[in-house]
Amino acid sequence: MTAVEELRVAVLGAAGRMGRTVCEAVAAAEGLDLVARLDVGDDVSSLAGRVDVAVDFTVPSATEANVHALLDAGVHAVVGTTGWDDAALGRVREHVSRTPGLGVLVAPNFAISAVLAMAFAAKAAPWFESAEVIELHHPDKIDAPSGTARHTAAGIAAARAAAGRDEMPDATTSALDGARGAQVDGVRVHAVRLRGLVAHEEILLGNPGEQLTIRTDSFDRVSFMPGVLHAVRTVPSRPGLTVGLDSYLDL
Ligand code: NAP
Repeated sequence: MTAVEELRVAVLGAAGRMGRTVCEAVAAAEGLDLVARLDVGDDVSSLAGRVDVAVDFTVPSATEANVHALLDAGVHAVVGTTGWDDAALGRVREHVSRTPGLGVLVAPNFAISAVLAMAFAAKAAPWFESAEVIELHHPDKIDAPSGTARHTAAGIAAARAAAGRDEMPDATTSALDGARGAQVDGVRVHAVRLRGLVAHEEILLGNPGEQLTIRTDSFDRVSFMPGVLHAVRTVPSRPGLTVGLDSYLDL
């Protein structure tokens, strides 16, 4: 920490779309000091001793190596880059166990509304017979369904299983391919791709005579910034590996 107790922050992928937005948000944030902007070819080890927290919004092929280099440099890491699998998370978990006091957060979604929608859906799921997820995105997105929708469906399925809920009612015996969406742990997920949209999700929960709809909309990448800033401020007090911003929101 600096003499005025500001957290010294670096941004990796600083020239990218998310990286530029994070740089602006950190520079304008109280108590945070943007001391380094790194992009391709810059040396992460140069951050040792002059940075407290680094934010990584780079590319899936670089992000894990960046996190290992940050841990070696004694820097906490907040990671928004996608593409993490269980093996990569396991390697980071093992590495961070050897660097006491350091924290790593890997968060697939920093939008507070999306994180809350996932938590609310899991909370509501045991109380409804049926639940389906619809995610809606711009047509330039290459994967379907979105990671957030998969995560939402998995959370609903886990909550239903924990409550001993039966399978959802569905009398469909014939259908066109894809008409009933994809299944994630038994929960149907539908993906819409439409010009003009950004990133949206609806969770439909149904009972005889009633429906609960939970909807989240991200209109701009600035929607991720409150979550990123909260993570930067929180990660120094959360040693070890944390996956998902929800763990930092005390839900
Ligand atoms: P982008 O515009 O392509 O930015 C990535 C930046 O990282 C580029 O400037 C790239 O440089 C740079 N880079 C590549 N390798 C690097 C390395 N080894 N070290 C440092 N910088 C490196 O992509 P974006 O739209 O900002 O998205 C970045 C990532 O964040 C993606 O994985 C995206 O899915 C994810 N994302 C997550 C959230 C969330 O809430 N968690 C939200 C939005 C996006 P070059 O262009 O020269 O390769």
